[in-house]
Order: sequence, then C-alpha cells, then structure tokens
Amino acid sequence: MQDLAEGVAYFQQDVFPAKAELFARLATTHRPHTLFIGCSDARVVPELITQQEPGELFVIRTAGNLVPAHPLGVDGADGVAAGIEYALAVLGVRDIVVCGHSACGAMTALAAGQDLADLPAVARWLRHAAPAGAPQDEVGVLIRNNVAVQLAHLATHPAVARALAAGAVTLHGWVYDIPTGTVERIDPATGRPTARAA
Ligand code: ZN
Repeated sequence: MQDLAEGVAYFQQDVFPAKAELFARLATTHRPHTLFIGCSDARVVPELITQQEPGELFVIRTAGNLVPAHPLGVDGADGVAAGIEYALAVLGVRDIVVCGHSACGAMTALAAGQDLADLPAVARWLRHAAPAGAPQDEVGVLIRNNVAVQLAHLATHPAVARALAAGAVTLHGWVYDIPTGTVERIDPATGRPTARAA
C-alpha cells in the first residue's frame, strides 16, 4: 500500500501538473474513441500498450478477456454488458478491441484442464470461453481462438449489432505478447494471426 501512496504523491506533484490542461478538459468531457476489452492480468495495461492518454480508451477488463454472449443470465446484472451498451449507445466509440495475451492464466487453466473445484466462481466464469477450444489445445492456439470467440460474443450484444449494421463501429482482435511487447492482429473469422497492419 505504501507503493500506491508514493505513486499518488508522485502523480500529484509531477505528472498531473504537466498535463493540467488535459485534465481540465476531461473534467467535463468523456469522449473515448475506443472500447478496449482486455484481461484483468496486471501485466496487460491497455493505455501503456497503445500509448493512449486518459480519456481515450473506455476499458473493460475481465479474467481471460471474456465477453459473455447476449442474452444475459436471469438476473440481468451483467457489468460487462452494461459497459458495452454504454460505450456504444452513449459514448459512441468507433472501434472495439478485444485483446488476449501470452501466458494468460485463464487460458492456461483451460488448456491444462486444471481442477478448479476450489475456485467455483472462476470455473463458472470460464464457461464463457468454453467454445474457444478443447482442453488439450495448445495454449497459444486457445488464446487466439478465444479472441475470435469473444468477438463473436460481442457481436451478439444488441448495441454492438446495431452499430455494426450502421457501419458505425469496427471490431478488432489482438493478442499482446508480454516478453516482446508486440501485438498480433487476429482474424475474427479464423482465430489465426493476420498480416494486416493495425
Ligand atoms: Zn489473461
């Protein structure tokens, strides 16, 4: 916790003053251009990877960068769906990135068929990734396939479907490689890497 307190102090003294104009504008403006859906993994930091300033990315991070498909469960209390709906219908984001990453704990657990009896919430959550592949799949393949599956889930959300039909939004699949810092683009149709530049 001491690290966080020191970080806040450094932010206030050195970082904030250098961007005071930006933060003054952001006080009354929230107009991010992109919805970034990434993994909760501490090593995958959306603003760092993409070098975006505060205010530019609307971010949803879940374990395994999973996006439950529409319709929602019976209770309807789905934070991911709410974030997607808000980003599209209110903020009007023009691009959505679903970003997987190397060494993903969620995908590794699935690929290895790990016993999750002691992690019932994790086990339930990972069911949203189930169509991505069989447990024996190599984890790298599973990570890429999972991005494609989550893009398909994303398209089932009514706000996304409407925006896609209107040509108002573009979906992108990425896989971030932690040791090299590179980003691989994933073909949503095949789950395989594409040579196309961002
Ligand atoms: Zn992960």
